[in-house]
Amino acid sequence: MNTLEVCEIFYSLQGESSYQGMPCVFIRLSGCNLRCSWCDTKYSHAPGEWLSFDEIMHAISLYPCKLVELTGGEPIWQEASIPLMEKLLELGYTVLLETNGSLDISEVPDQVIKIVDVKCPGSGCGDSFMKYNLRSLKAHDELKFVLTNYPDYEFAKAFLEIHKPQVNAIHFSPVSTLLAPETLAEWLLEDGLPVKLSLQLHKMLNLR
Ligand code: SF4
Repeated sequence: MNTLEVCEIFYSLQGESSYQGMPCVFIRLSGCNLRCSWCDTKYSHAPGEWLSFDEIMHAISLYPCKLVELTGGEPIWQEASIPLMEKLLELGYTVLLETNGSLDISEVPDQVIKIVDVKCPGSGCGDSFMKYNLRSLKAHDELKFVLTNYPDYEFAKAFLEIHKPQVNAIHFSPVSTLLAPETLAEWLLEDGLPVKLSLQLHKMLNLR
């Protein structure tokens, strides 16, 4: 039970979310239940290396950083991700979870900061969001919409009008090859939406 299939563990600057720009250790778990058209981490869908919790803890302890993110793939797809988050919290880490929003997050410890995707139609997985997950969101959590075009923008805008999520931040992130950030900025300014234009800092800096 206390093992996880791991794609990679690495240290970099946080590229997205409200923690953007902060040093962070990333634990990328293998496997994902979705297949987004614009996925930029397809390599995480391949089989990874099975590591015990002790091996994972040792790997992250090599870095001078107490901020850790579980990402994927889809971390929640592996049940042992929950006890791993509990152990990280016990050891004093601040824990971020990047999740695709399609799986139940109710068992995630409250102290974990959840960054939850709502997949838009342009991803090819636009009906994947588990609406029940909205009940599990805390004030420190965040939502993220990755956008490819104007219909995605309208989808995200309508979602926010209907559900009015009470979270720390809502990110609108353009797929860089499909939607110019300047165009998204114009739409946001026109509508005055209370969301953040989110660009992937790690890619701008050629970091992992
Ligand atoms: S949920 Fe994430 S890892 Fe899975 S296919 Fe979509 S972008 Fe890729």
